[in-house]
Amino acid sequence: MNLIFLGPPGAGKGTQAKRLIARFGLPQLSTGDILRKAVADGTALGKKAKALMDAGKLVPDEIVNGIVDEALASPLAQKGFLLDGFPRTVPQAEALDQMLGRRGRKIDHVISIEVPTEVLVDRLAGRQTCPQCQTSYGKDSPPANPGHCDRDGEKLIVRPDDQPERVRQRMHEYETKTALLTGYYKARGVVREIDGVGSVDEVEKRIVGAFA
Ligand code: AMP
Repeated sequence: MNLIFLGPPGAGKGTQAKRLIARFGLPQLSTGDILRKAVADGTALGKKAKALMDAGKLVPDEIVNGIVDEALASPLAQKGFLLDGFPRTVPQAEALDQMLGRRGRKIDHVISIEVPTEVLVDRLAGRQTCPQCQTSYGKDSPPANPGHCDRDGEKLIVRPDDQPERVRQRMHEYETKTALLTGYYKARGVVREIDGVGSVDEVEKRIVGAFA
């Protein structure tokens, strides 16, 4: 099964993807996680992407398309995948169609997580992230040991792009470029709209229910 998670920043795409990988036995391919790791490791890719990411702007298509093409070729992704944070523009969606078409594959479902802007702004303002495994914590899903990741004990950080003015830029990128993707996939009848307001458990139940 090949899945895409769509939704604005703070909708819970990464959190829900991390929950569902075990349930569906699929790898999570997150361009944001891959880029943040490249920045932390100081690779050539990370150096190219860092300033744009910190400013809340999109990284050029040729960079992210290359990351996804490589991830799709990995043995882990052969049974299926769960894409989170990609595609983010219609040209990226078209590039993805080509990458999958070359491999005789297609997108089966697009899960669109719907959350009103005021809830998103509130969530992102309180979000802390593990720099190691990228798990996010917030008011509704705090870590057991404050300031530390439940999974690996790492000290949590506030992502540079979760600062209020960067959040505004990311919302702008979403509204002007990414929101158009829902229409792109709706035309194929593969979109499942999920109410993303509520606890992580509640939203997970709704997503799983959509596949029952
Ligand atoms: P995310 O973790 O998905 O919120 O992504 C964090 C940042 O990584 C974004 O604000 C962009 O700067 C960059 N990024 C992640 N995925 C993409 C993408 N598909 N296209 C362009 N930039 C991306």
